[in-house]
Amino acid sequence: MTFDDAPETPLLRQLKARIAARGPISVAEYMSIALGDPVHGYYTTRDPLGVAGDFTTAPEMSQMFGELVGLWLADRHAAGAAGTILAELGPGRGTLMADALRASPALAVLPLWLVETSTTLRAEQGKRLTRAQWVDRPDALPDAPLLLVANEFVDALPVRQYIADAGGWREVQIGLDPDGRLAFGLSGRLPPPAGGAPPAPGAWREESPAAETAIAEIARRIAMHGGGALIIDYGYGAEDRPAGPTMQAVRRHERADPLEAPGEVDLTWLPDFDALASTARAAAPVEAWVTTQGQFLVELGIGQRAAALAAARPGEAAAIADALERLVMADAMGERFKVLAILPADHPRPPGFDPATPLPGRTA
Ligand code: SAH
Repeated sequence: MTFDDAPETPLLRQLKARIAARGPISVAEYMSIALGDPVHGYYTTRDPLGVAGDFTTAPEMSQMFGELVGLWLADRHAAGAAGTILAELGPGRGTLMADALRASPALAVLPLWLVETSTTLRAEQGKRLTRAQWVDRPDALPDAPLLLVANEFVDALPVRQYIADAGGWREVQIGLDPDGRLAFGLSGRLPPPAGGAPPAPGAWREESPAAETAIAEIARRIAMHGGGALIIDYGYGAEDRPAGPTMQAVRRHERADPLEAPGEVDLTWLPDFDALASTARAAAPVEAWVTTQGQFLVELGIGQRAAALAAARPGEAAAIADALERLVMADAMGERFKVLAILPADHPRPPGFDPATPLPGRTA
């Protein structure tokens, strides 16, 4: 132990003891313990959102985000099936849904189901969404036509990472270095995929069984009962695939070391939205589209909504203009955040997914 060591978090002590006894763990196991441990997990022990917390999400920046998501969902419900339920995965403080319900009275009469594991955040959600009912997992939602939104939920689910060398794929693991600190390492070579070409050395891939299960579950429900879903996150597609594995840590709005203080820093990864769309299509007969957050919000009219809000509240005009820029501009959230829509088979392309919509701030 050296003098610059920060005090160990309880989870750091537990993880070191476990790895010393039983060997390295996968990145997914690490994330699952660091974020979800029932006593010391990051989401179990705190509300991480907002200026005083670790990160700020789109609904926490502006009411416009939840309002437009609500309009999209209400529009999918216009042809509405009887018995439809409204659901959100990982609702944080409940801000998005509160804004959606206020803007769309047609949604406010539907049964509201929240998928949330954190009792701390369930309590926050209950303050704003008094009619809500909670479950732990998407597959525990009632069987019914489903209108669903998930913002920054998929990126919090555990992810496995693989890196190839000349001999084939190896899994990224977390073990102990000679000084007994947590350190990244690689598993032995994994058996080559049957029939597939060997991977190029340096190739990488990430797989989140939990994300795939959630997306497949949503797709099956929408195929069977009808409805529609929006999955929104910081992620990538074929055009902007990162150079390497994407798990990262954030603490007080700054990048942090993911191994330093498990349970006290947020851990996320960047989903591949083309892969999420493929997972949905493979699970059930559904349509799946992907666009950027900027294009989605612009096409749904966020410019007009911002103008109307600023006219109604002149004192807040500068803050409204600032939030608008952060949500839609390509160099802010507009391009890096992606939106996946899942709709029943043969549904026409929904509003917000026209690829011709110009992305503000992009000069290409
Ligand atoms: N959607 C909110 C909060 C995003 S933070 C917003 O945009 O502001 C991630 C949310 O997902 C939190 O509510 C967290 O408690 C929840 N969460 C994380 N892992 C989860 C899991 N495995 N099952 C259910 N909810 C989870």
